Amino acid sequence: MTTATRHALISGASIAGPALAHQLAARGWRTTVVERAPRLRDEGQNIDVRGVAREVMRRMGVEDAVREAGTGEVGLRFVDGDGRVVAAFPAGEDDTGGATAEIEILRGELSRILHERTRGDSDYRFGEQISGLTDHGDHVTATLDGGDEIDADIVVVAEGTRSRTRAMVLPEIRLDELGLYIAYLTIPRTDEDDRWWRWYGAPGSRSLSLRPDNRGTTRAMLSFRSNVRGLEELDRADQVTILRRTFADAGWQTPRVLDALEDAPLYFDAVGQARLSRWSSGRTVLLGDAAWSPGPFGTGTSLALVGAYVLAGELAGGDDHRAALARYEELMRPHVDRAQNIRPAAIRAMNPYSATGLTVQRAVLRAAGPVVGALGRLSARRSRPPSEAIDLPDYPLPAGSVTPA
Ligand SMILES: Cc1cc2nc3c(=O)[nH]c(=O)nc-3n(C[C@H](O)[C@H](O)[C@H](O)COP(=O)(O)OP(=O)(O)OC[C@H]3O[C@@H](n4cnc5c(N)ncnc54)[C@H](O)[C@@H]3O)c2cc1C
Repeated sequence: MTTATRHALISGASIAGPALAHQLAARGWRTTVVERAPRLRDEGQNIDVRGVAREVMRRMGVEDAVREAGTGEVGLRFVDGDGRVVAAFPAGEDDTGGATAEIEILRGELSRILHERTRGDSDYRFGEQISGLTDHGDHVTATLDGGDEIDADIVVVAEGTRSRTRAMVLPEIRLDELGLYIAYLTIPRTDEDDRWWRWYGAPGSRSLSLRPDNRGTTRAMLSFRSNVRGLEELDRADQVTILRRTFADAGWQTPRVLDALEDAPLYFDAVGQARLSRWSSGRTVLLGDAAWSPGPFGTGTSLALVGAYVLAGELAGGDDHRAALARYEELMRPHVDRAQNIRPAAIRAMNPYSATGLTVQRAVLRAAGPVVGALGRLSARRSRPPSEAIDLPDYPLPAGSVTPA
């Protein structure tokens, strides 16, 4: 295959997959995107785009569209069981700071924007998945579960934390479960819901948060710690039953959320970290959460955007895919290592088990809120957060190329 006809088969159409399709199309590649779900998935909550990922969005030409589709969230308030504000952290005012980033967008909205800008150039195949891969050395043949075969120069697995195709090429994957489950739901909005993200911690390491969106609904998140593994594999009815039982006596606005549960769009997942000593094998490479899912602190989307930009830039820079994939890993690895460096104690501290632990957490937040804010700003200036831990290479677009818009 010549440079002009290079073809990437990308599996997964959430954030990493369409972002890569966008960047490869801008460099003259042909792309096919296979997505297991029957259509683009809309579930999920606000995700924030920080640090160098903001710069990537600028270079992709999507920053304005993302800003326009923002949720308008003004910050984070911790509340008690009566809804009284314990501590408040206003949204950041730059590319990096704040619990709420300056740009907050629904995951589904960002996915939609990326899909809209790539569907003209990419062949999207929904409701399909890869069932086999054969690496011939100079190209790969992927067999889809419907029987079709697709030849590609590169296969990119962007299937998220619980990727299936990953095991076909890198079976040594270690998935560290962090013992935390999160259910993301979309529920009807009430007059009481404002532009703040409200977070309520309940005894038993449970929490409920409510966040505004730009669709006239409210995004709810129920999270709980458990030693039982595999709940994310249960069917929806069983997950709903578990949520009902777990949160029956949790207080604050949980009755309202449980009432809406039956009909609400729901995405239920266990928080885990994917750890691999390498991200590629031959002509197949992992991208986004499939390669490095970082865990509970919301850095996955920024990493996926930066990773897509770097992978496209390196692949398009020459014909030696081995060198490109090695350089992609070399550039992304330190960034990922920092994002994955999460202590179990930090997860426990965020989700105290006992009522006493919660009282202490609230007292600390109440007393230290302003100090924490100031220290956060200071440390952000002194040390670069994971979203900033990479010097973004400049990958010029070829003359005459057009960024998909
Ligand atoms: C429905 C959904 C809701 C989410 N909600 C939130 C949220 O509220 N907050 C948050 O911080 N993060 C959320 N995430 C995770 C977040 O999107 C990622 O951490 C981050 O954006 C990196 O994205 P990714 O594209 O690498 O992986 P993901 O976003 O996990 O996307 C993987 C995609 O691959 C598809 N897929 C999986 N297996 C296969 C297969 N075998 N063949 C083909 N396609 C496959 C999935 O359907 C999905 O579309 C959500 C993810 C999903 C899929």
